[in-house]
Amino acid sequence: LSTTEQLQSFGERHVTKGIGRVAPGVMKKAEGSYVEYMDGKRMLDFTCGIGVTNLGHSHPKVSKAAAEQCMQLVHGQCSISFHEPYLRLISKLLPIMPHPSLDSFFFWNSGSEAVEAALKMARATTGRQNVICMQGGYHGRTFGAMAVTRSKTGYSEGFHPLMPGVFVTPYPFWHQLGLPPSTSPHDLTQTALNQLHLLLQQQTSPADTAAIIIEPVLGEGGYVPAPKEFLVGLREVCDEHGILLIVDEVQSGFGRTGAWWAIEGEGEDGRGVVRPDILVMAKGLANGFPLSGVVSRKEVTDKLRPGSMGGTYAGNAVSCAAACAVIDAMEEERVLENVKERSKHLLTSLHALKSDPALAPYILDVRGRGLMVAVEFASPPQGWDPVYQSQNQRDTGKQIPKGLASRVAKRCIEKGMLLLTTSVYEVVRFIPALNIGQGEMESGVRVFEESLREVVR
Ligand code: PMP
Repeated sequence: LSTTEQLQSFGERHVTKGIGRVAPGVMKKAEGSYVEYMDGKRMLDFTCGIGVTNLGHSHPKVSKAAAEQCMQLVHGQCSISFHEPYLRLISKLLPIMPHPSLDSFFFWNSGSEAVEAALKMARATTGRQNVICMQGGYHGRTFGAMAVTRSKTGYSEGFHPLMPGVFVTPYPFWHQLGLPPSTSPHDLTQTALNQLHLLLQQQTSPADTAAIIIEPVLGEGGYVPAPKEFLVGLREVCDEHGILLIVDEVQSGFGRTGAWWAIEGEGEDGRGVVRPDILVMAKGLANGFPLSGVVSRKEVTDKLRPGSMGGTYAGNAVSCAAACAVIDAMEEERVLENVKERSKHLLTSLHALKSDPALAPYILDVRGRGLMVAVEFASPPQGWDPVYQSQNQRDTGKQIPKGLASRVAKRCIEKGMLLLTTSVYEVVRFIPALNIGQGEMESGVRVFEESLREVVR
């Protein structure tokens, strides 16, 4: 097994088809914003391993901290004794929590496990059974997390019946509310909150509802930031009825949106941070080492029976040491400032493409926050042709080719840049490293523009 061809065909033969793959080839090493493949090709990475390697691949401080921890203690089982990196990580997380009430932690390996834990905790501590999730939300592939995942049926097809007691309310996303893309955040908020109130009156009574789970920026559902006003409204509903608000920051957290947490919002309405009851984190937390976390108020987590939480590898010492180094590096290297600057450049460049008369008909929307940015194309989503196509043809007078998102992403990959699609809509997402340089950002935008022009030519 030495050539790329041999490895590729070995992988196709021996790795399950149940795992999808977007780019051909076999990765060998990666540094910063570039991934090198076995055949020597170098790819500019605008995926960060799906929003994980926020400080770039193989960040020297993170790798060094992990290597040093490997020589000290690899597996300090959290149900046997505390271990030092676990406690050090909590001490570093406490000052960056979006709300001071969030002070009691536990760690896992993956985002899905952390979501499972949050759901179990909400049921156990409220004594209620039902959970409300958002249409378009993604929370993972394990059974509980899959049950509250409503971004694509592809994640649950063949795996039913799902966990019972799950109710779905629309995200304040114009598509889901049948409203035009130009709808104001206020109108989106009001319409979505009305639907939530109806749900609580018609389907799951507040007295039976343990939690509402939400991503502050819809990730796998299409990269849609929730208006702050909507989050404030959710908080009010939760306060009124004693429902817990679970905020899933697995993808949007850890600096991705230019603040430590997306829930911090832009402060645009002056009403301060929306307080989560339970916050779930993973992905960028340890820059590639498997680690996730759940944080809540001590009164909430302390209602859990000893032994009801935990797992063999949960809160691994090497991952915790890596996460400590991530927080240090984020602060020392002023990464949040970089996110804000690069985000301005990225959004301005993409809006310029949207205003270019030759490309305008193909681009329906440019949106996002920080370096969690998306372009939605005007192609009809799968199976929606009759309504959608005529709407777009009316608006633009152009026949819009199908499948633009995957065709543009594929062209980017052929041209040396890793780029992902997302959601059932025609969306490509830009999730570069948070410390990406200006030159790398310009290259990425250039490859995207060339690919789009070639695909629609
Ligand atoms: N929640 C969100 C918002 C996510 O984006 C993801 C992963 N894409 C998960 C949960 C699940 O995390 P994991 O894949 O680590 O289980």
